[in-house]
Amino acid sequence: MHVTAIIAAGGRGQRFGGARPKQLLSVAGRPVLERSVAAFLTHPSIDEIVVALPTELADDPPGYLRGTSKPLRIVAGGPRRQDSVASAFRAASERSDVIVIHDAARPFASAALIARTIAAAAESGAALAAVQARDTVKQGHLSPAAAGPRSGDVWIVKATLPRELIFLAQTPQAFRREVLRDAIALGGEATDEAGLAERAGHTVRIVEGEVSNIKITTPGDVAVAETLARGGHDDRTVARVGTGYDLHKLIEGRPLILGGITIPFERGLSGHSDADAVCHAITDAVLGAAAAGDIGRHFPDTDPQWQGASSVGLLKRAAALVRERGYKIANVDVVVIAERPKLTPWVEPMRASVGQALGLTTDCISIKGKTNEGVGELGRGEAIAAHAVALLRGVVD
Ligand code: MG
Repeated sequence: MHVTAIIAAGGRGQRFGGARPKQLLSVAGRPVLERSVAAFLTHPSIDEIVVALPTELADDPPGYLRGTSKPLRIVAGGPRRQDSVASAFRAASERSDVIVIHDAARPFASAALIARTIAAAAESGAALAAVQARDTVKQGHLSPAAAGPRSGDVWIVKATLPRELIFLAQTPQAFRREVLRDAIALGGEATDEAGLAERAGHTVRIVEGEVSNIKITTPGDVAVAETLARGGHDDRTVARVGTGYDLHKLIEGRPLILGGITIPFERGLSGHSDADAVCHAITDAVLGAAAAGDIGRHFPDTDPQWQGASSVGLLKRAAALVRERGYKIANVDVVVIAERPKLTPWVEPMRASVGQALGLTTDCISIKGKTNEGVGELGRGEAIAAHAVALLRGVVD
C-alpha cells in the first residue's frame, strides 16, 4: 500500500496574531512544523510527503524540509485550508492508495494514532482521529436580552447535549485516494476534509484520537505544548554514542573509494555498491547511535534503487534520518586499517567529503589511517576495514 502524507501548513495564523506563522514557532527547541513533518518522515507506513506552505515560505523553505530521507514535495498553499489541501493532492503520487492529512499545528500525534487512522481509511474509505467529549456538553446561544448591566451579548445555555455522541475532530484524517478526490471536487466551505467527504456521501469512520494531540492555535497553547514536549521534565538533552564497522576485499579492476574520495591504487574494494568501507562504517555508527537500525536495513543491496549508489549519498540520507528523529551529529571518529596505500595524503579530502555529507565542519570529523603490521588478512593487504564511532546530541521527546 502506497501512502502519501499531506501536511497542511498553509495557514497564516490569524487567530494567533504576530507576524510569524505559528507553525514556525519553536517548541522546546524544535519548530512545530519540523516536529509535525518528522512524525511522518519517521513513520514506517508513509512513502512520501507533500507539505503545503504559505507562498513566501514555499519559495524559500526551511532547511529541515530539504534533503529528507523520504521524498518530500513542497507546494504553495491557497487562501483557504481546502485550497492548500487541493494543491497538495495534485502533487501527490498517482500511485497513492491512501492519503493522510495532518495539521502542521499538531506536533504530538503518535505513530500509533497515524497507523490506526491509515488502517481505518484503507478499510472504510475515510477515517478521522477524534476524542469523545469528556465534559458535559452544552449548546449555547447568544442572547442580547440577557446582557444585564454590562453591554454586549452573552451566551446562555440552550440545551444539554448527550456527550457520548459528541466527538471533537482532530487530524490525522485519512482517505482512500478516490474518496479524497471526490471530496475535493465537491468543494465548498469546510474546516476539515472529513466534512467534505461526508458531504460527498462517503462514510467517515472515527478512530480514537489522543488528548495530547493538541492543536497550537493561540499563544496560550505554546506553554501547554512546551510542557508536553518536555514530557514533564526539563533535562531532555541526551548524548548517544554509536559504533560501526565494515570490511571489503581488495580486488583487481575496481576503483578504491574511501570516504567518498577515489584514491589511486592498483586494486579497489569489491562489493555491490562502491564498497566505501569508511562511509559504511560511519553510516552504521550514526544509525546505531539513534538505535535506528543499520545500513543493510535502510539501504538493502537487493533493492535496485541502492545498487551502484554512492555511499556518500547513503551517509547523507542516514544523517537526514537521525536529524528527523531530533538528533544532531556532534562528531565522528574513524580508524581505517589498510596496509597499503598510505592514506595520509587522503585524510583531509576524506574529512571534507564526509563532513559535507553529514553537514558538519571538518573539525567534527576525524579519520586516522593505520596498518595491521603485516599480521593477518588485513596485514597481507587482502582487505581494508574501518571502525567508526559517532556521537549524537538530541532534544528528544
Ligand atoms: Mg560495506
